[in-house]
Amino acid sequence: MNFSLSEENIAIQKSVRAFANKEIIPVIQEYEKERKFPRDILRKMGNQGYFGTTFPEFVGGTELGFVNLAIICEEISKVHPALGYAFNMQSMTCPFTILNWGTDSQIEKYVPDLIAANKIGMFALTESGGGSDAAGAMKTVAELKGDEYVLNGSKVFITFANEADYGVLFAKTDPSAGHRGISAFIVETDLPGFEANPIEMSGLGYMMRSCEVFLDNYRIPKENLLGREGEGFKIAMNALDYGRLTVPSRLIGIAQGCLEHSIEYANNRVLKGNSIGNYQMIQHLIADMTVEIEAARMLVYKSAYLKDKGETASRESAHSKYFASTTATKASRAAYEIFGGYALTDEYPIMKYINYANMLHLGEGAPNVQRVLIAEDALGMKDANRHKIRRRFSLNSDLNEKGGINV
Ligand SMILES: Cc1cc2nc3c(=O)[nH]c(=O)nc-3n(C[C@H](O)[C@H](O)[C@H](O)COP(=O)(O)OP(=O)(O)OC[C@H]3O[C@@H](n4cnc5c(N)ncnc54)[C@H](O)[C@@H]3O)c2cc1C
Repeated sequence: MNFSLSEENIAIQKSVRAFANKEIIPVIQEYEKERKFPRDILRKMGNQGYFGTTFPEFVGGTELGFVNLAIICEEISKVHPALGYAFNMQSMTCPFTILNWGTDSQIEKYVPDLIAANKIGMFALTESGGGSDAAGAMKTVAELKGDEYVLNGSKVFITFANEADYGVLFAKTDPSAGHRGISAFIVETDLPGFEANPIEMSGLGYMMRSCEVFLDNYRIPKENLLGREGEGFKIAMNALDYGRLTVPSRLIGIAQGCLEHSIEYANNRVLKGNSIGNYQMIQHLIADMTVEIEAARMLVYKSAYLKDKGETASRESAHSKYFASTTATKASRAAYEIFGGYALTDEYPIMKYINYANMLHLGEGAPNVQRVLIAEDALGMKDANRHKIRRRFSLNSDLNEKGGINV
């Protein structure tokens, strides 16, 4: 068993750090201050191939795999947690879902522009009745009329919806059939009947917004059905399974950011003649953060490694999402203690880390729901890996030698 990153993994990590230092850190405050969507930064990230690491070359992907995606996503989220959103919308939950379930023409039309970030993506599942019960709460309906589906209803918390060009959106084509009546659609936001209004949410900034979406007799060609009618729930759960690779990576980026800032601060903040890093209770906080982040990262790498091998890793994804979210919320709280009152100032990113850790703790699988899944699997009630994960295209067969960690 070898837990080292490969030379390629390390080279990618270094190059992302260099990119962040040159292209993100000098300008990101401006976007934040002006509440401006960082389309240019996302496009540069797209040009670097960051969103396309798990995509085949024929759509513009780099085929570098899930471990490299986890590494890149962690590095970018550490610099600014808002940018981490993009790894879901421009990579996992939107275009990867289209890649896995779309027709050849859907893939050709939508995927290359999304992973290059020439077009902005979104994933619209949650409704106001409750995100943890996506199927039961869904009231949005889609009715086939001639050659078009007509959609009516609303969604909530849909990230990027006010900027998005395309998205994967879920609606009931048979409201009497429970989760089997849900279908998935590829939507284009410039068609009449689509409206997205950003939600006022304190703490996360205003650069990248989550929105309420309203569909009022919104018509799309029937060719925009993704998969078959009634397959929507399966498509959504598959998409979230892949999203549970980038969400924990984002959480680890946040936790690692907390640790690095805390170490620097603890070494430099002098009280009673000693840097506070000399005080044992501060050391305990640093020790716990260090170990827990490493453990959380290993869980993410394990889930990424299995995905690179083409295996189902729903169990490992649930473990990593759950543990990374508790690790990041704990690490951000520890950073808060270490920084004292300065945590509250804009001079340091601690409050941003705290707010994003809390948000991601809930998003894409609330902690109680993950706990239920993990417990039912452990108790032998439901095998978490019982459903085969859809993977339409496999990447380079030598990926594990080339790009994966060796485990
Ligand atoms: C900033 C942000 C961005 C988001 N972006 C998107 C997006 O782009 N697309 C999208 O579709 N959704 C998005 N979401 C929605 C997100 O996935 C949901 O918020 C999440 O699924 C939880 O749903 P909820 O907020 O309705 O909480 P609820 O489902 O109402 O849950 C509330 C609490 O009840 C607990 N709970 C639920 N069921 C059980 C149970 N069986 N046993 C015990 N406890 C339980 C939960 O753990 C949680 O603590 C976003 C949310 C936020 C905050």
